[in-house]
Amino acid sequence: ATGMGALSGGAFGWAALWYRRRRLSLSQQVKRALADGSLSVVYQPIVRMRDKHVVGVEALARLSDEAGEPISPEVFIKAAEDAGLVCEVARLVIRRALADMRDELLARRDFDLSINLSVLDVLDAALVPYLNDEIARNGLNPDQIVLEITERSTARREKLVEAMKAFQRSGHRFFIDDFGTGYSNLAYLASLPISGIKMDKMFTQAIGKEAVCSAIVENICAISDRLGLDLIVEGVETEEQAAYILQLRNDAFGQGWLYGKPGRTLPSTGDSRPHC
Ligand code: C2E
Ligand code: CA
Ligand code: CA
Ligand code: CA
Repeated sequence: ATGMGALSGGAFGWAALWYRRRRLSLSQQVKRALADGSLSVVYQPIVRMRDKHVVGVEALARLSDEAGEPISPEVFIKAAEDAGLVCEVARLVIRRALADMRDELLARRDFDLSINLSVLDVLDAALVPYLNDEIARNGLNPDQIVLEITERSTARREKLVEAMKAFQRSGHRFFIDDFGTGYSNLAYLASLPISGIKMDKMFTQAIGKEAVCSAIVENICAISDRLGLDLIVEGVETEEQAAYILQLRNDAFGQGWLYGKPGRTLPSTGDSRPHC
């Protein structure tokens, strides 16, 4: 029995070591990318669904490993959170995105830039002045910056709401990301200082396939409308999905491959667009 115990303990130890090394190397890659600027940002258009008018973009972070293979943002953002680096990632994304989208933001007052923040970023008191300085430095308007947060636990809810209000006082708006998953339930919607929600793509992609999800989609459209919240529907890939949403909420905004994939520059309206 002693032998067996030692053996399984050993095997477990190896697994733990492998995991630690993998994690270490991931956070090292994030650190390297922060230092050498190889962490990049791409932009995906957000449109008013009824006429496909582009109303903004979402900034999405990108990182490749040494072999040039993309690392999923879900994976490296988690690693950055665990390594205490996520606030630096947020600063880099903010700096890049404001610089990249500056001309578009200045040319069109109805154009928004959406930035993803971890709960840790929102709780970082130094981020509000950082964001405000960057906005001022670029001569931009705070109300064109939208902050997307995903709540993954109910811990520190009161602290989070207080922190969100500090951003709000500076004129920024919040959207709840991945709405319908995790802890983002309807009950707590009313308690958060938000101007809209983003419906997770899992619901969009189940339209026409799973009756349960269609019922949830209907509810999310109706309740967000009743609460006066804007709705952005994620993962719109087909005209059928778009038509289904529009018949529920004619004023919905959408994001997905149907309208444009994430890219280095603003799609369709492009760099060469004169101005409007
Ligand atoms: P998210 O905020 O839900 O971002 C939307 C994800 O859906 C993106 O994946 C986007 O590429 C993908 N997507 C967009 N349209 C479609 C579609 O029509 N079909 C399908 N199948 N997928 C679509 P991505 O870029 O891999 O990002 C994954 C997640 O990583 C994001 O989810 C966000 O939570 C996180 N993330 C990305 N950038 C940042 C960042 O700068 N900071 C933080 N904190 N998190 C980030
Ligand atoms: Ca997002
Ligand atoms: Ca999302
Ligand atoms: Ca997501």
